[in-house]
Amino acid sequence: MNFAAVIVAGGAGKRFGAEQPKQFLLLNKKEMFVWSILAFKKIKECRQIILVVPEYKLAEMQKYKKMYKIEIVSGGKERYNSVKNGLDCVKENIDFVAVHDAARPLVTEKIIKDVFNSAACAGCVGAIASSPAKDSIKFSKNGRNIINSIDRKNIWLAQTPQIFKTELLKKVYSKKIPENITDDAQLIEKLGKKVNLVDCGGYENFKVTQIIDFKLAEIILQQREKCL
Ligand code: C5P
Repeated sequence: MNFAAVIVAGGAGKRFGAEQPKQFLLLNKKEMFVWSILAFKKIKECRQIILVVPEYKLAEMQKYKKMYKIEIVSGGKERYNSVKNGLDCVKENIDFVAVHDAARPLVTEKIIKDVFNSAACAGCVGAIASSPAKDSIKFSKNGRNIINSIDRKNIWLAQTPQIFKTELLKKVYSKKIPENITDDAQLIEKLGKKVNLVDCGGYENFKVTQIIDFKLAEIILQQREKCL
């Protein structure tokens, strides 16, 4: 069994508020997206890495093609457009595709392997990195008042990588995608197919969204280097 990685770095990073999208900022001496590439490169079953970047960054990114032996394509308006562009480049004879957010630079070899092994289990079509909710969960329609509480033991927060059988992922992405889709599992779970949750813990693999996340990710990466 093998897989290809589609690392999506095509977002504008508006919530972060930096001059350029956060995934291109230097994080512990490397551009944020590079940390994800390095994690995937450690895995022998990973046969292809496709980095998806904003169109205006394509020329500037060419140097990374040779450096890391990856392919680089331009993204689209929404995350799902970027995933689709990456999927179009997946080679023949690739069993699974791992979609990963470049905004999750703390992903480790172990997390990727655990999700891949779970995705490749008999009877299921894929698996996703995730973490169980720790806080109490409230439902609100207007963001001001509570409608009700939801039992947190049934709530899991979706992370990436999300790994699925290539054929199935390509099939769902070839159809019209609902506007509000924010991850890949949403397209597969709707089909009633079995997708496994792999508990990766909340802190190990968080998404860098705000400045505080960036600073925390830098400290964690520095600590990991010290422990090598
Ligand atoms: O916006 P969000 O935090 O959900 O983005 C998750 C990942 O998807 C980020 O790595 C971002 O760069 C990527 N993305 C993309 N193309 C877009 C929007 C987001 O590749 N149009």
